[in-house]
Amino acid sequence: VRRKIRVYFVESKHLYFTAIFVCLAIGCCLLNLSTSILSSTIREIRGKKVIIDAGHGGFDPGAKSAKGLLEKELNLDVAKRLMRLLSKAGVKVMMIRETDIDFSDRNELFNTKKRRDLYYRIQIANQSDADVLLSIHANSFPQIIYRGAQTFYKLNDENSKLLAECIQNSFNNNLGSTRKARPGDYRILNDINLPGVTIEIGFLSNPQEALLLSDPQYRERVADAIYTGLVNYFAIKD
Ligand SMILES: [Zn+2]
Repeated sequence: VRRKIRVYFVESKHLYFTAIFVCLAIGCCLLNLSTSILSSTIREIRGKKVIIDAGHGGFDPGAKSAKGLLEKELNLDVAKRLMRLLSKAGVKVMMIRETDIDFSDRNELFNTKKRRDLYYRIQIANQSDADVLLSIHANSFPQIIYRGAQTFYKLNDENSKLLAECIQNSFNNNLGSTRKARPGDYRILNDINLPGVTIEIGFLSNPQEALLLSDPQYRERVADAIYTGLVNYFAIKD
């Protein structure tokens, strides 16, 4: 009986090591696969130049949720998360703002602070030599039922349209949005000389979506979804 037990023990030990070996082998294969997928996505975007505009800031809070979430803060947070993801992949990122500021005192060309602020952002984008501009915003609507992240593209510009569609696909696949990329009549998009999109990361007027946007983990998913859309854009375009 003692011998039998020992044999059994030796066999089970053997089985145990085989199992570890098989697991390690599978692990290595998966790791190799994910590393090669990762390096191929990084190849698509490494060296690209992206300018990120975190909408509003300073005197201009943008939209506000019922519980007091401010659009300018959400925009900046998602912009910074996106900047980190892109920088890690070797993208040259330029941020129009990295703190809670506005640019209404940078020129005296227009009557309103808002117009002066936007003019400065447009100037920076046009001097940036970037491949694309991403302007990050959050939506608000009188009817609270509307929800879903959505992208808008510069009118009559095929590259902007493709970029918006890639990001929208990623929103629909990764965040469950059911919206479509649409042409957007935004001042910043109309006046820039490079492909650009305005990204509405969700509706602050919708209580469920406002709650999601208040969660840093969800905002990381939003940034990640924009990142994926951008990778796909450069992969298709180049
Ligand atoms: Zn906005």
